[in-house]
Amino acid sequence: MLLVLTSLCLMLSPSQPGYTHPKVNFVETVQTVVYTTKTGEKYHLEGCSYLRQSKIKTTKKEAIANGYTACSRCKP
Ligand SMILES: [Zn+2]
Repeated sequence: MLLVLTSLCLMLSPSQPGYTHPKVNFVETVQTVVYTTKTGEKYHLEGCSYLRQSKIKTTKKEAIANGYTACSRCKP
């Protein structure tokens, strides 16, 4: 039983989806700097007029992970 589990783990661990063919697009999404606000639920590009009240620097990946969605005005 233990042997079966071990071999199962070996089979599963190296195959991470998307890892073998990284897309430039994906890397850009991860590193793109965007801004969130204290009260809003959107993330913005620098200079968006919605950022006048508050401006919290983060990355697109972090913003999405925290439940933020793209601003329809500046389209980050
Ligand atoms: Zn915006």
